[in-house]
Amino acid sequence: MRVELVNTGTELLLGDTINTNAAWIGQRLAALGIQVARQTIVPDGAIIRTAIAEAAQRSDVVLVSGGLGPTNDDLTRESTAELLKLPMALNDGVMAHLNEYFAKRGKPVSEATKRQAMVPTGASVMPNPFGTAPGLYFPATLGAPLSWNAHIFLLPGPPRELKPMIENEVEPRLREWLPDGASRRVLYLKVTGVGESDIVEAVEKQLEAIAGLDLGYCIRGGDVDVRLAGPQSAVDAGAAIVRAAFSDCITSEDRRIIEEVVVQLLTERGEWLSTAESCTGGTIASRITDVSGSSRVFGHGWVTYANEAKQQHLGVPAELFEKHGAVSEEVARAMAEGALKHSGADHALSVTGIAGPTGGTAEKPVGTVWIALASKNTETWTLKRFYPGARDRFKLLTSQAALDLLRRRLSGIARRL
Ligand code: ATP
Repeated sequence: MRVELVNTGTELLLGDTINTNAAWIGQRLAALGIQVARQTIVPDGAIIRTAIAEAAQRSDVVLVSGGLGPTNDDLTRESTAELLKLPMALNDGVMAHLNEYFAKRGKPVSEATKRQAMVPTGASVMPNPFGTAPGLYFPATLGAPLSWNAHIFLLPGPPRELKPMIENEVEPRLREWLPDGASRRVLYLKVTGVGESDIVEAVEKQLEAIAGLDLGYCIRGGDVDVRLAGPQSAVDAGAAIVRAAFSDCITSEDRRIIEEVVVQLLTERGEWLSTAESCTGGTIASRITDVSGSSRVFGHGWVTYANEAKQQHLGVPAELFEKHGAVSEEVARAMAEGALKHSGADHALSVTGIAGPTGGTAEKPVGTVWIALASKNTETWTLKRFYPGARDRFKLLTSQAALDLLRRRLSGIARRL
């Protein structure tokens, strides 16, 4: 089934609004096993008519977002009616919704708004509980005899209105139309700590030999998402190959990111984490506290950037700096053990490194970082990594490696040196 998107809005072309609708719809459809075939953005105004006609000629389904509002340049509804030669009629149900919507807000329904109650004959109204403009569905068989045969959905532009409509109105129909009861599946294996090229080298040949399997990789936030799509049996066979090669590096199979996985593991064990960060400036604590429910597992975090702060707050002995330098295994270990002691948590992660661009030496070049994990009644783990590059990337990859170290300990998996 070929599906195309048409997004309207001059603000999308100016770059004032990011086209999050396209990204979100792409992900939702991918989960159904449908890859969006093409996506077009057009400015507000009459060009929407051409864009819809072109997309409909190439596709089985066209999803249009935006331009259903009350203003003069919102022409999506009228243009589609013209294209299909459908007369417009006032829809009582939509009018009642508009009356109620504005009565609740103590405002009259303007003449411009009433336009939204005009529905092309034969189109189905898709209710919009979060806004005024209803969505409209035009079955492929509707309208003047045309050279194409596509189902057309008109959806509101605002994401909070569009999303429920996609879930409640569009997806059930797509599922019905998918050949063979939607036997297509999509699985994302999130792999942490391994480069895309290593994955390709280890498994790609075997994966490509599986009939019907679509394979894709996406690098995001220090992970590689391996996307397997196709019939269930092909996806299962592909997943078995990736798991066999990288079982200890797969952090999730349901698109959860590593901080969500770590917070869940800590929650299940009823354990607490603390952090002592230098070069990451609180990134690890920030990522953990992005996760809802993290207050049950995270109580203390230190950002100890200066050596004095590491001594004062974490009790790192002064001689370690003289003997080994601030970026050293010994200091990372002392930071983690100090954080564990001072917080009373069950685990403490520390990082100390050289983010650059200045401050590197031949022995410790920019990008060098030591990570440590201290846990109650267990040996402290230390890890050296090298992430040369921009500071934000350095922080992201370092925090990723630190969180993965903790994930491994919580899951009973050996660390990867
Ligand atoms: P309205 O009733 O608000 O007029 P509409 O269906 O006419 O709805 P638009 O006017 O095209 O929609 O867009 C309304 C707002 O929705 C935009 O200002 C923008 O903030 C947001 N929006 C529109 N399209 C997108 C998109 N593709 N991705 C993200 N946001 C969008």
